[in-house]
Amino acid sequence: MKRVVEINLINASTNVPVKAKNHPDFAIKLARRAGRRGEIPVAALVLHNDSVISAASNRVEELRDSSAHAEILALRLAHSRMGNERLEQCDLLVTLEPCTMCTGMAVQARIRKIFYLAREKKIPAAEKILTLDRHGHIPQLIYLSHYAPKAEALMTDFFLALRQVR
Ligand SMILES: [Zn+2]
Repeated sequence: MKRVVEINLINASTNVPVKAKNHPDFAIKLARRAGRRGEIPVAALVLHNDSVISAASNRVEELRDSSAHAEILALRLAHSRMGNERLEQCDLLVTLEPCTMCTGMAVQARIRKIFYLAREKKIPAAEKILTLDRHGHIPQLIYLSHYAPKAEALMTDFFLALRQVR
């Protein structure tokens, strides 16, 4: 069963709240800043009632911590801000399709929807894990394809620049 809903915001259905249209640009901006700090440019937001309750970008290099992915940091912050280990009414917006670890945490946190802007081409983790259908709770995956060119360019430019440095 295919669980990914693809939404191009230009022809968006009512599935995405109007205000959410600003959030992807904010996430892209945060991700770009992370790239300037030498981190892989990924940022994540946790949304509650369509307001941003936490935001984070990758800090793997800075913290020397392989788990310091944007999603993990944003979800942890959201837990503490909501004072709740369950984020049932919250959505996660991330600039790149989440990896296995982050998808796992989103499932554990009972995130309602995962919006992502660029597809992870090598290992499409979230799409694979969430099609297994073994979890009691499965976040709905929503690919915001309208933002894909911007979000993909962020990654491509980062790795291109990295290769030129080496
Ligand atoms: Zn991750």
